[in-house]
Amino acid sequence: MSTILIVEDEKSIVDLISYNLKREGYDIMEAYDGQKGLELALSGSVDLVLLDVMLPVMDGFEVLRHIREQSALPVIMVTAREEERDKVLGLEEGADDYITKPFSVKELAARVKANIRRNTDFNKTIHEGDKYGPFDVDRSLQAISKDGKLLDLTQREYDIICYFLERPSQVISREELMEKVWGFEFYGDLRAVDVAMRRLRAKLEDDPAEPKYLMTKRGAGYYLQV
Ligand code: CA
Repeated sequence: MSTILIVEDEKSIVDLISYNLKREGYDIMEAYDGQKGLELALSGSVDLVLLDVMLPVMDGFEVLRHIREQSALPVIMVTAREEERDKVLGLEEGADDYITKPFSVKELAARVKANIRRNTDFNKTIHEGDKYGPFDVDRSLQAISKDGKLLDLTQREYDIICYFLERPSQVISREELMEKVWGFEFYGDLRAVDVAMRRLRAKLEDDPAEPKYLMTKRGAGYYLQV
């Protein structure tokens, strides 16, 4: 059972999200200001955070910065306006995903499911799996290691890498990635793909500024060379 922390100051929204995620089988924790949200996020008993931007005491961006200093916990930013969404996209080490109000309950549940960290025991020995250059894929554990070291990936990041690995050296457009990996309507905002690629490079590459594996084909998309 996974625990979702909702950090949101509007009680009616908290109640709506809480009710629907409980129906999906999640445990719910609630915080009504940024300070309390940060404390709970770092308490070790949370698997994913839904983080509102406009919050009392400490705003959502500051909460996110403090979480990221200590934790790779999945965070979905909940934004109210276009400009807030732009700010989210601008955060280099920021959110795993974002959702703009008003959102449908179905979309929210899909985002939570896609971003929740797999309950992986990182001490478990990685089985000999499919090998692609320096990368080892263990499909039963849904884990990928590089040079024998396990990569700390979200479910979506794992899905992205697998999608590339199944299509070696093939350029994949951002539209195709959005459709096949995200798997649902994303309001056509392809910058989310670029943000995901940047985060992936930080995890895959020795030097993200000089990528050797996850490559950009200008104007066409991305490809993985291994
Ligand atoms: Ca708010």
